[in-house]
Amino acid sequence: FIQVYAEAIAHGGHSKGTILVFRDVTAETEVDRVKSELVSTVSHELRTPLSSIYGFTELMLKRDLDPERNKRYLQTIHDESKRLTDLVSDFLNVQRMESGKQEYDKQIFDLKEIVKEQIQFYQAATEQHSLKLDLNDEQDFMVEADANSMKQLLGNLLNNAVKYSPDGGDVVVTMTHQHNQIELSVRDFGIGIPSHSMPHLFSKFYRVDNSDSRKIGGTGLGLSICKEIVRAHDGNIEVESILGEGTVFRVKLPSATDALLEAE
Ligand code: ADP
Repeated sequence: FIQVYAEAIAHGGHSKGTILVFRDVTAETEVDRVKSELVSTVSHELRTPLSSIYGFTELMLKRDLDPERNKRYLQTIHDESKRLTDLVSDFLNVQRMESGKQEYDKQIFDLKEIVKEQIQFYQAATEQHSLKLDLNDEQDFMVEADANSMKQLLGNLLNNAVKYSPDGGDVVVTMTHQHNQIELSVRDFGIGIPSHSMPHLFSKFYRVDNSDSRKIGGTGLGLSICKEIVRAHDGNIEVESILGEGTVFRVKLPSATDALLEAE
């Protein structure tokens, strides 16, 4: 984006010409876009859980409710608080990444341990879905990575796979070695993604604009965080999807096995 600024030069009441100033405002426009998206996302996404927490706590304070209803309301309050916590941590992450302040504490470890842990965590939160892991358990999947970032990467992909399969179904995580890379894929059989949305998926705040996606809440930040994490680990992330049939995200990361052998 180029901003053009024109000023007429007047001299003794007569016009002598015009100065044209060209200024590259690409970076500022991007910052402005992120800011205004932030404001609208915050107002949308914070409002709903907050008003539901407020409403339910008010009901519980004012009325003597039976234990069953009490429990149900508490569950809602609990779920909505979790949503708020996730939201705030997404915002903070993006802000940290944007300002270049994100630090990665890279260690060498077997990625399948984190994958197993995250699968268990997300499986515990759903009865409608069956989260499966497909790998050769005798193989190591060594990476040199920041463990928290790997948890977050997996967590975002698994969370999406479950969230965008509203009718339930399988979510299959596969891990393989491809040359000197580790390929990890997360496949679901959910609502899928329209092809025109594919180029924008990893952009900050982008959400597919159709009624199915709108019904399912979100900030449009998860995948942009995944992309940044993968970039910081010299890997890449790709997506394939068929609308109405399902989606697969593939992450490739350098294998640390060679580095380990060299160190021996
Ligand atoms: P959100 O918080 O909206 O889920 P993401 O950045 O994680 O944000 O994803 C961006 C958009 O990509 C989502 O709004 C959704 O429309 C689409 N999307 C992501 N993962 C999937 C998936 N597994 N199946 C279908 N659509 C998906």
